[in-house]
Amino acid sequence: MPLQRVCYDCGRETDERRARCTCGEPLWLDTDPEDFDWSDVTDAPGLWRYEALLPVGMPTPGRLAAAAGGTPLLREPELDGFAGTKIHLKVEGQHPTGSFKDRGSALALAAIEAGLEDESGHQIDAVGTVSHGNMAMSMAAYAASFGLPCVVLVPDDIPEERLGVIAQFDPEIRRVQGDYGRLYRDSLEAGAAHDIAFVNSDVPLRVEGQKTTALEICEAFAPTTPDAIVMPVSSGGHASGVWKALRELESAGAIDEIPRLYFVQAAACAPIAEAFATGAETVSPIEGGGGETIAYSIANADPPSGNRVLRAARETGGSVIAVDDEEIREAQRELATEAGLTVEAASAVPLAGARLLAEAGTLANTDDVAVITTGTGLKEAAGSAAAASTETVGIDRLDAELSTFAE
Ligand SMILES: *Cc1c(COP(=O)(O)O)cnc(C)c1O
Ligand SMILES: [Zn+2]
Repeated sequence: MPLQRVCYDCGRETDERRARCTCGEPLWLDTDPEDFDWSDVTDAPGLWRYEALLPVGMPTPGRLAAAAGGTPLLREPELDGFAGTKIHLKVEGQHPTGSFKDRGSALALAAIEAGLEDESGHQIDAVGTVSHGNMAMSMAAYAASFGLPCVVLVPDDIPEERLGVIAQFDPEIRRVQGDYGRLYRDSLEAGAAHDIAFVNSDVPLRVEGQKTTALEICEAFAPTTPDAIVMPVSSGGHASGVWKALRELESAGAIDEIPRLYFVQAAACAPIAEAFATGAETVSPIEGGGGETIAYSIANADPPSGNRVLRAARETGGSVIAVDDEEIREAQRELATEAGLTVEAASAVPLAGARLLAEAGTLANTDDVAVITTGTGLKEAAGSAAAASTETVGIDRLDAELSTFAE
């Protein structure tokens, strides 16, 4: 059965295997959530408990796909003082490859395995992605688990350490020179021509998987809702999923009100925040690719779902803002020292954003705010600055050292 796709913007529908509408905007799946009720949630593992809202159920056996989703939402009063609002942390770093990308990879590969992406006899027998980090890792890992060949296209300047983490799953890796935004678009077309399903950051199946982050947040708050959800944004694929989930829950009557959505970018590369601030209708790509930031995972100068994110912020009464690297570092440190949570820089961005929003009075200190920490810090050298200040002592000095510490 072909999956029906619909454009959030112009409303056109199609059953063709395409990621973009003829108007240029990204398509998402036309799911029919009207009858959904929280009692339809099953006790399947991870994100598969929301099968009623998904295009496909958990494969049998579930294998690695069974480990996608089901991450904790932690109430963290220790961070309230720093942020100026009531913080609930969604811990996406708990996934097998350390980020929420696993949600989209698991769902997309399950749908492909079930034949949902096949059209007019076209058998899909390989998958691919365009990424410079987490998504490549995630796709390579899940493809290995599903036994599907996987091609990963990375920018030619990707750091060696990150390439090493991807390579351990043994995908076909190609470093590609040239514009990243164009690579994103061209890979979808060239992939389709060769029956390779490119599961890029905002394609319809990935968005379906990634909408489960918001389903879990809302289920945790039911029968109420958080006042706001704050998350980092790059391509806008995760944000699109979160917005879609909230729209579906509202149309089903499972939530009374849609939480305000706040999207946060790194100031060095913030095309969506700039469009929001200037009141523009659409996002303009940043000429020359934008500046350097420690939050490299979200430095997308030409975000494919940028316009959709703008719309999500405006329609939910939220906003799109930017934080600088120093603010990101502070939030990253706070998460580690107060909450015991190591996150990569991109993932500290929403806490830094929540703090700015509270300072501006946009978030009240009584607001319940779900902050999505998107990826673990264990993959990067987040602790390197702190590690540099450690002292070395001889074993004979242990007793004296501990007595100093005890005081
Ligand atoms: C991919 C990623 C993001 C951004 O998600 P998009 O869907 O591209 O907007 C944020 N944080 C981390 C850790 C990521 O890996
Ligand atoms: Zn359209």
